Amino acid sequence: MPLRAYIDNEEIVSIDLTDEQWNDLKKRIKSKDSLLTLPCCKQEGFLRTSSKGLKHFVHSKSNYNCDWEPESPEHLRAKIAIMEACRENGWKAIPEFSETNWRADVLAIQNEKKIAFEVQWSKQTFEETKFRQDRYKESNSKGLLVFSNSTKRITKI
Ligand SMILES: [Zn+2]
Repeated sequence: MPLRAYIDNEEIVSIDLTDEQWNDLKKRIKSKDSLLTLPCCKQEGFLRTSSKGLKHFVHSKSNYNCDWEPESPEHLRAKIAIMEACRENGWKAIPEFSETNWRADVLAIQNEKKIAFEVQWSKQTFEETKFRQDRYKESNSKGLLVFSNSTKRITKI
């Protein structure tokens, strides 16, 4: 579930909006005064608040030409927690950042330093983990994987 979208080509991050701004935006989308598109595929989307009160965006049409994978509420919460932690520590945090051959749940940037966070809820083989780390390395980012199902937390940077 994306946290980032474009409103009439202006980038917004859902968790940065106040409840008032969020509700106002919802009205503008509904009345078609504004157009919301998603960065992953440029398709139209709309605003949704989860049962736990987390603001996010969803695709409004069939996303047949989008490779966005469904995310659990836990995944969404983890992304928000990572973003907040990055910002508290003085890093710029971009959700759902993608380059040609990789995507990060959150990309943290501080000056020249970049760390790609990826939340991994399902099991992942070592080979897949290594493959992803290599892609980050190629683009001068450090990859940090946050595993939920492991007693040994991997914090390889
Ligand atoms: Zn999409």
